[in-house]
Amino acid sequence: MLNSKAVLIALVFASCTLALGQTSTPTGNVRFSPDMLDKNMDPCTDFYAYACSKWQAQNPIPSDRPSWGRFNELQDRGETLVRGILEKYSLDDPKRSPVEQKIGDYYFSCMDESAIEKAGSKPLQPTLNRIAGLQSKQDFAKEAVRLHREGVGAFFEFGSQPDFKNAQQIISAAQQGGLGLPDRDYYLKDDEKSVEIRKQYLAHVQKMFELIGDPSEKAANEAKVVMDIETALAKGSLDRTSQRAPEKIYHKMSTKALTGLSPSFGWPIYFADIGAPPIEALNVAEPDFFKQFETTLKATSLEDWKTYLRWHVVHSHAPVLSAAFVNENFNFFSKTLQGTKELAPRWKRCVRMATGDLGEAIGQKYVETTFGADSKERMLKMVNALEASLGQDIQTLPWMGDETKKQAIEKLHAITNRIGYPDKWRDYSSLNIVRSDAVGNSLRSNTFAVQRDLNKVGKPLDKGDWPYPPMTVNASYNPLQNNITFPAGILQPPFFDNQADDAMNFGAIGAAIGHELTHGFDDEGAKFDLNGNLKDWWTSKDKEEFEQRTSCVKDQYADYSPLPDVKLNGKLTLGENTADNGGLRIAYMALLSTLAGKEPAPVDGFTAQQRFFLGFANIWCQNRTDQIARYLANIDPHSPGKFRVNGTLSNMPEFREVFHCKADAPMVRQNACRVW
Ligand SMILES: [Zn+2]
Repeated sequence: MLNSKAVLIALVFASCTLALGQTSTPTGNVRFSPDMLDKNMDPCTDFYAYACSKWQAQNPIPSDRPSWGRFNELQDRGETLVRGILEKYSLDDPKRSPVEQKIGDYYFSCMDESAIEKAGSKPLQPTLNRIAGLQSKQDFAKEAVRLHREGVGAFFEFGSQPDFKNAQQIISAAQQGGLGLPDRDYYLKDDEKSVEIRKQYLAHVQKMFELIGDPSEKAANEAKVVMDIETALAKGSLDRTSQRAPEKIYHKMSTKALTGLSPSFGWPIYFADIGAPPIEALNVAEPDFFKQFETTLKATSLEDWKTYLRWHVVHSHAPVLSAAFVNENFNFFSKTLQGTKELAPRWKRCVRMATGDLGEAIGQKYVETTFGADSKERMLKMVNALEASLGQDIQTLPWMGDETKKQAIEKLHAITNRIGYPDKWRDYSSLNIVRSDAVGNSLRSNTFAVQRDLNKVGKPLDKGDWPYPPMTVNASYNPLQNNITFPAGILQPPFFDNQADDAMNFGAIGAAIGHELTHGFDDEGAKFDLNGNLKDWWTSKDKEEFEQRTSCVKDQYADYSPLPDVKLNGKLTLGENTADNGGLRIAYMALLSTLAGKEPAPVDGFTAQQRFFLGFANIWCQNRTDQIARYLANIDPHSPGKFRVNGTLSNMPEFREVFHCKADAPMVRQNACRVW
């Protein structure tokens, strides 16, 4: 999930979500309505325009957002609900439970603008003084421990993850990191736009140094130092597309071997102090990065490293500091990079920060009001229907041999489902939340999260641990756990509507379930077995057939342009596009088998089959600024809504049939791609 908060030490291998987590007043009717369709458009020419252009015209991007879509409408409603919960418990009432005290006081402190303004950058001073006092590079390991535990993403990242080869066991992992810009490519590409962004980044870093009191000439030099160090680290970083290949980010080695890669860094000190149990081996996700880290450590002076560390402290904590920091951080990361016009109101930012730090504490209160047992039951029924369809689909694939089919079916049957919210809530009792200490609460929350993550090292995988709180409007498949997660936040209209018929629900949430299940069999998921282990279960012939088919999908989407001078990255988006295509197909199969040959009367003039495709397109209606379209093309494994809809439907003969499209219509692809 993306969050505007400080970068926490992150998992090496993210699970595959339905959509990019988007940092987010109740709106009008969110249900599907035929009035939303542009009847002047031909569904066979551009189905997305037919289903979404009216919505797009009626739903301009709010000024505090870089994009707006059906997901965001739900996020907004959720945020309003959470606001109500947090306001209720922010009164200093001795009768509050410990959980109510934490969420209430966190929110109260965050909303206490005058205290935050008064403090300015003072809360960072102890950390900045400590960095100023570093005597030699030998001190870096100890300092890295302190910064990482405060949630500052300097040097590299460190955390826990399942062992790819033995996924029931949690190990620790060191991973590339230490950059300020969102991806290594921002430092390395030399097109006009990238050069311009780097100039703006330099100006931003300079301004942040000025805000902590450095004179502007000095601050300008410091910004250059930061750029040089980060560029050096970026050069050693693996590109985002390659990181999707699990074998490229799995290099289990002894701590001694890691020390061999970057001997100038005090690894023994780091491991002794970071807060993980004693370890002998770990995953070093990108060994080349740690070699480059060594080169940079040696080539850069102590004073320049201190400058780099100061920058990362201010950068990480900027969103919780006084307005000058918040605004400057917004100006670059939200306005310049994403095209957002205005900062979100304070209450929204506080709701998001509270959700980031105390998600499951708030989630307990949230599900009391929003998620009923009947929703869970209907969802489970749909998941079962989708699993049955995928099973049927696998059995009838013409290109896959029996041996691989047997393995695929076993993997499918082993997938577990998590719906609504966790069985057991996260225990926040060791986290101290203090009324009127916003920055302290944020720092302690970061430390709590880091410690909680490191406590998992050396233990078996806890399958009850959820990756995000139940308010989240998203869903995911985790290849290392072979499970899908559908939080309460997404189980609402227009995704899941207890009052809608099967056709709409199968097109929307059904396709989403199908999408997550198919991730178990996309170019990445297919490399893991039923137990979540990185293990090849394919015959070589079937593997070849599979790769031929995924390569068709890769080429199809690489041809799509979100902006005139930007193309999608077919390889980066391959897993998501494969999941969209397979997911919609099996959702359609599940609808047909649920209808069992019966033809329901048309609704609003549309057959059930037509409504299925309308329900699907409807969830992907969205508007984006040009800036975020460009930004996401660099980093997002998901395609934009338009291509998720038109790319998928144009591969499906079923779509052509129910909308009676001519063979040469634009929505009918010659040489249609099909994997699953
Ligand atoms: Zn996905």
